[in-house]
Amino acid sequence: MVLERLDEASEQISFPMTRHSGGFRECSECFCSPCITNDKNKQLWWPSRNSDPHPGTAPQRKQLYQRFWAMMANCGAWCDDRYVAKKKIARKSKTTWHKRELMPDCVLKVCREWLPNPVKQPYMGHKWE
Ligand SMILES: [Zn+2]
Repeated sequence: MVLERLDEASEQISFPMTRHSGGFRECSECFCSPCITNDKNKQLWWPSRNSDPHPGTAPQRKQLYQRFWAMMANCGAWCDDRYVAKKKIARKSKTTWHKRELMPDCVLKVCREWLPNPVKQPYMGHKWE
């Protein structure tokens, strides 16, 4: 009986943001429709224009990743079965950047467009720890 009640409760978890809006194609990276980076999901903290390339943009990008992390959490994207499966695969590799949540490529891409490194400076990957 107790287990039954827990199951019901987990199915009824509701998130403050909508993850799937009608009429939009689902993004294959963040599993949101429209993509979490689509203008329809625009937040006040999104830059209105791309910055010029600069060597010191990594800490600012990290803040954006953290805010996208919260958006993904608010719409339940981290709970998507496909995401959970993706994370399990990533955990088997030896890199350290997946210790928490895997930031989808669409988010990495838009944050790198907003706050680019100089052309000759490679991105360090998305490291949380
Ligand atoms: Zn996406």
